[in-house]
Amino acid sequence: MPELLARSLIRDVPDFPKPGIIFKDITPVLEHPQAFRETLDLLTADARAKGAQTVVGIESRGFIFGVPVALALGVPFAMARKLGKLPYDRITEEYALEYGTNTVEMHVDAIKPGQKAYIVDDLLATGGTAAAAARLVERLKGEVCGFGFLIELTFLDGRRTLSPYPITALMEF
Ligand code: AMP
Repeated sequence: MPELLARSLIRDVPDFPKPGIIFKDITPVLEHPQAFRETLDLLTADARAKGAQTVVGIESRGFIFGVPVALALGVPFAMARKLGKLPYDRITEEYALEYGTNTVEMHVDAIKPGQKAYIVDDLLATGGTAAAAARLVERLKGEVCGFGFLIELTFLDGRRTLSPYPITALMEF
């Protein structure tokens, strides 16, 4: 595959949000319509190939990429949000961080039983966030048909955490 335009636009921000982390900033991709569209077209093609019947976006950068994919496919979009943001009845999953835990939630009616869900986020690191989103989908009796990420940090081996789900990452670092 030829190198993506978006790859050259990913900005490394050292020591954000804390010392030792190199943050992969995708905002320059959003400011470049051709590069942005290229990422959306690839994720859309992958979600279509996986038979997605709904797209789940993980707050908040997963919304930016997940919404256009859902619209392009003509399928629903469902939000996996951080703790305390969703107004209606919801289910909750915790996942481990380096220090402490984090929580994602979905509305109880966000996924219909048997629905094939394609889960989108900007970046796969350890896979904890995406795995928690997958547990939410499955608790709502949906089926995870795949994950789509712009970026995979291969040294963190998130793929192993998400095994055996199909995973697509547009770029590896
Ligand atoms: P993880 O659960 O470890 O796979 O972390 C993935 C989530 O954290 C995604 O929502 C990412 O946006 C964010 N994230 C983790 N590490 C980074 C990083 N180095 N640069 C940018 N975002 C990150």
